[in-house]
Amino acid sequence: MRTMSRVTPVEQSAEPALPPAPGAAQHPALDLANSALVLPGGQRADLLDTPGAAQRWLVDRGLAPADAELRDTCASRLRSLRERIRPLLASRIEGRPAPADALAAVNEALTLVPAALLLQWSPEHGLYRSTAHPTTQIVEHALATLAADAAELLTGPDADRLTACGSAPCNRYLLRHGRRHWCSTRCGDRARAARAYARRTGRTEED
Ligand SMILES: [Zn+2]
Repeated sequence: MRTMSRVTPVEQSAEPALPPAPGAAQHPALDLANSALVLPGGQRADLLDTPGAAQRWLVDRGLAPADAELRDTCASRLRSLRERIRPLLASRIEGRPAPADALAAVNEALTLVPAALLLQWSPEHGLYRSTAHPTTQIVEHALATLAADAAELLTGPDADRLTACGSAPCNRYLLRHGRRHWCSTRCGDRARAARAYARRTGRTEED
């Protein structure tokens, strides 16, 4: 569970109460891809739109220490990796060639710094593992970890279960379980309601 104790109520309301899509807990890259969402009604929410929001997102996923203070450029680097990972996921799902610029961006993030946590020692903690400290290195480590996970997701055993949520206007990706291809109960209910409405009125609103 995430702890929100440090977050003010105003900031809290910025994060929509939507559970992570299936697979997002195991694959931070999938979670990253889903961090800019289109909500029912068409509003957009970006969970990485400010340095504070991006910092919380990373801390909640164990990708940055709680005291990391991200800068604007750090948040924007995370958002730009996301905008490269999304087309890669889409190309894998649709069986299209992977976009070369997206591959280059993911490979750059992969090789910028090692994804491994460093072994460190301090008098208070003894031996422990963490990222190196300067904020840019924290962010680069997070980018490397997210890029490595994207590569693993796209080529590993889960790749064939990767799909896009089938409930418009939702834009989240998920790992399919059986026939279920919705990212959440809310999306499933909305898709069923839309189908029922289409049957009643004899109109098809969506495919
Ligand atoms: Zn959805």
